[in-house]
Amino acid sequence: MICALCKEKEATKKNTHYLSDGVIRKCLNIGGTNERERGYYFDISNGNPFVEFNFQRIDEVNLEKGLGRPPTDEELENARKIPFSVDYVFCNTCEKSFTEFESKFSSDIIPKLRNVNLNQINHLNFEEVSLIRMFFYIQIWRNAICEEIFSLSPKVEEELRLIILNKQVKNINHFPLMITYLETLGGDMSFTENYVGSTSDRNPNVIFMNDFVVQFFDDIDYVKYNKFYGLNDEVDFKEFVNFEEEVFKVKVLSNIKRKELLSNIINTEKVKQTLSFLEKSFDLIWQRMFYGFPPIQIKQEYIHGIIGDDDFTVLKYSQKQIAEYTEKFIWDRIRR
Ligand SMILES: [Zn+2]
Repeated sequence: MICALCKEKEATKKNTHYLSDGVIRKCLNIGGTNERERGYYFDISNGNPFVEFNFQRIDEVNLEKGLGRPPTDEELENARKIPFSVDYVFCNTCEKSFTEFESKFSSDIIPKLRNVNLNQINHLNFEEVSLIRMFFYIQIWRNAICEEIFSLSPKVEEELRLIILNKQVKNINHFPLMITYLETLGGDMSFTENYVGSTSDRNPNVIFMNDFVVQFFDDIDYVKYNKFYGLNDEVDFKEFVNFEEEVFKVKVLSNIKRKELLSNIINTEKVKQTLSFLEKSFDLIWQRMFYGFPPIQIKQEYIHGIIGDDDFTVLKYSQKQIAEYTEKFIWDRIRR
């Protein structure tokens, strides 16, 4: 295999993290397997209120449960090392170049966000425009190369490849880029509440990297407000889109807002799974009674009777309530 960045040298490097380990490590913790878990994918453009996602969210507690004893340092290390990494995609020289920017980001930028008092702060300005852009371009581009469902337009992907390969510092701020820092209070364990994963959608291309959330647009014309579960706010959305900027603005989401965002995402997923479960169960019951699938309209009526116009209502009911409602619904059909 030829290296995906330089397209010259042999890709000999093993275990390249395509989302920087220094950022995501605190969040990840996987049951010590060699299998990389699937990343998560959001789909926000097609009007589907439900998000497709499978973020990794394995914390130390779960690892301990899996092992039946506290993990050793080495197991923890291994557990954290494997996800979001690839073998034989990049060469050693290009890997070194990635590391150069990642180390600089770790030493110059991260300390200004992690473990500092961000109370009442809704954004921070950074002079290090090209460092921040380069660091996130590396994440975005590598993610596009390594993650099946995350993609960029071929033109943008190639442009980013050349910027990274040439370590270009000037004229690289023409891609609209939003970075949100999620204030994560409460020690290391709190970081495991965060997510790592990306969306299958475009414009924005969204990557969750623990306490950093990236939103990347191909072009200024594609920039459009999307609430994204509370990640963005319509009032100041535009303010946080960095584009041809002199200083780079990083939006800061308070610890409380961070928790809201994560819980919105989780609840939406729960709603989606619950509704899908209900539909499947209804099909099954109907089939048993009437030897065929329920007409779509009847199925819609059934679901509507539970949720009305608010999908989230589905989380309010107990299993027993749903069973009773279902029985009554079908009984009413029979009597008609
Ligand atoms: Zn290379």
